[in-house]
Amino acid sequence: MQLVDIGANLTHPAFHGDLPEVLARARAAGVQKIVVTGTSVPESTQALKVSNAHPDMVHATAGVHPHHARECDDTTIPALRVLAQQARVVAIGECGLDFNRNYSPHPDQEKWFAAQVALACELRKPLFLHSRDSKEKFVEVLKQFKNRPPAVAHCFTGDKAELQAYLDLGLYIGITGWICDERRGAHLLELVRDIPADRLMLETDSPYLTPRDLRPQPKARRNEPAHLPHMQRKRRATHGRFSACHEYRPAPAAERPAPARSTGHCRGQ
Ligand SMILES: [Zn+2]
Repeated sequence: MQLVDIGANLTHPAFHGDLPEVLARARAAGVQKIVVTGTSVPESTQALKVSNAHPDMVHATAGVHPHHARECDDTTIPALRVLAQQARVVAIGECGLDFNRNYSPHPDQEKWFAAQVALACELRKPLFLHSRDSKEKFVEVLKQFKNRPPAVAHCFTGDKAELQAYLDLGLYIGITGWICDERRGAHLLELVRDIPADRLMLETDSPYLTPRDLRPQPKARRNEPAHLPHMQRKRRATHGRFSACHEYRPAPAAERPAPARSTGHCRGQ
């Protein structure tokens, strides 16, 4: 089985100084592929550059995050189309809705989310989706597209009803280091049992969402793709604990819940 980090923000300044080392550590840890998240046209351009510089390991997405929806104009979709036609761009996104932080007005978010779903349908590229506190409208927009390519709801942190709604839509579910947070992630760790194995994807969302139970904690608490196997072990241990899944392996001491320390949040800027 290939281990793929489907969401890493490797264009983030936190990686400017040592990206080759970060990739080498990921490879040594067993991570074969990394998909670098594009969150705007400039960031998606950078993500493709990183991918082109490391073609053996790194792919990219091209999209505009809902936080940046207000910056979109008539040039946005044509620019994303050019980027997304590159073979190394494997998905349209990160796109979707974020009614929690509301950095962009809802009508802008909805308009540019729908436009990116339409682009994915046109190019037959998968979608890398963001949804926060916006389940109803998110589902409503996606349902407008009958012939939609495969899509993943990245960084899922919702409840059981939201999970079921997304599974009913045929979405894949992206799980992050939230499952390693014994306070905020406890409900998610339980919900992970309800995600069919062939619908579950893992992502670090680096440099955010460092697993809280990682020991030792990395310098400056930066998350990186090399931590993906740690999350995979956590998921396997959880399945075993609750359902005696054949993947069960007792978690080593380093993975047991540790004292509380604060952690980031999906796209926590
Ligand atoms: Zn996100």
